[in-house]
Amino acid sequence: MAARRFTLAGLMLTVWAVALALGYAVPMWRAIEHDVDPANRVEALTMSADGATVAARFGDGKLRLWNAISGRLLNTIAVPFQSSRIALARDGRLVAAESDVGVAANVALWDVATGKVVREFAAAPEWLIEFSPTEDRFALAGGSTVFIHSTTDEDAAPVCVQLGASRATAIAFSPDGQTLAVGTDQSGVRLFDSTTGAGRQRSISDDGSVAHALAFSPDGQRLAMSEWPRSTPFSHRVRMLNLRSAKTQTLPRGDDFMWYEGTAYLPGGRFLAVVQNNELRLFDASSHQPVGFDQADGMVQGIAAGRRGPLFAVAGHSGIELRDCQTLNVKHVLWSGPPPPNFVFLGVGYLLWIVAIGWRAARRYARTCQTCGRRYQPLRRNEVSTDCPDCRERALYDTLTAEQIRLAERRKTRHGLLRLVGFCCLSALPLGIVLRETIGLRFWLAYVIAALAALVAFVACGIAYLCIARRTSSRVAPRGNS
Ligand SMILES: [Zn+2]
Repeated sequence: MAARRFTLAGLMLTVWAVALALGYAVPMWRAIEHDVDPANRVEALTMSADGATVAARFGDGKLRLWNAISGRLLNTIAVPFQSSRIALARDGRLVAAESDVGVAANVALWDVATGKVVREFAAAPEWLIEFSPTEDRFALAGGSTVFIHSTTDEDAAPVCVQLGASRATAIAFSPDGQTLAVGTDQSGVRLFDSTTGAGRQRSISDDGSVAHALAFSPDGQRLAMSEWPRSTPFSHRVRMLNLRSAKTQTLPRGDDFMWYEGTAYLPGGRFLAVVQNNELRLFDASSHQPVGFDQADGMVQGIAAGRRGPLFAVAGHSGIELRDCQTLNVKHVLWSGPPPPNFVFLGVGYLLWIVAIGWRAARRYARTCQTCGRRYQPLRRNEVSTDCPDCRERALYDTLTAEQIRLAERRKTRHGLLRLVGFCCLSALPLGIVLRETIGLRFWLAYVIAALAALVAFVACGIAYLCIARRTSSRVAPRGNS
């Protein structure tokens, strides 16, 4: 065997291989880098009651605000403390978040247009904030007190709601803004008059569960309560309370899960949305039965809906998208990471590289037949014979009887057919996968179609080859005989 020589073609093939490896590794590395970067992680999502403004807080402390109708970015505010709670005023002019680290955390209101702090409040560390959907007021809860402040009049004394020995765990305004529902850790969910702070009822669901999210239905008749029953931890549930009949109904649960991210009634009143275990689940708002829909993102991290407007917001692995409340179709993408790497050109480059390597090897090992003088490819690198396969077969046939030749021909045909079927089955595997992914066919159907297509393509190639070979041999034959 000839020693390996340094050649320009060899160098080019090596450079080509290195380029292919880099072309794969660099986009993959960048995709991983993007995924682990906190600046791209949505940690809190909220929408104004009028459905016109969306706010999201990212892992690097940036608060981004968008116009939900046009999808335009309104402002980016750097929030010094990374609180997971944010809230938007009903008209989207103010945004609330934690503003400072202290013994007691401070909650601030920012002007969305200017990005400046307009008011600041001292709050208990486990604070909650909710803006009224109808008036310029907001409820700020911390510990066992809820204050209802005015957003416009700084001097007005806040309405005070006392919870006694209980701590507030969730708050929600009714659609008319007159009632404030407060979830507590000791005495269930309680309803208060939001203008006087007086209790409406002692407790409406005191069965030992702790609600951590509350949502009124758009007609104000029902209250969705996301809660952890104290008796059975790790069994989160969503219960619907009919405020007229005081009857409750538990939503059908998905698989056992660990994570809970949000509950929201979508404007229009058709659907109730629950995010559990990074999965968005939709329920019919009146029957509470699950509704199936096309869920493109498998890693939903949050949901936000206003009281009015046609859209609701979903934060997921691929960014923040706005969907239609009636059709559930995606209308805008507010924030998205880089598109997933496209490896089509890389795949084509790799195939060409394989062909080039094969072609080069074939050229290196090609020999001249000692009998007929044709160039041919030895089947093995260390083949001893100096004759081409055709001449070898002819020499073998000379020693055989007519019956033996017939059997050998039949065996050859059988082997050829088996090889053809094997080739089609193997090549159908990637083709079948591509068909399934692109057209959405069932795998076996896609596989059979791909295998048949490969067979047809291969037979067509075989016929074309035979036609060309016959024409060439009829031209060459007289010279060979002479
Ligand atoms: Zn030969």
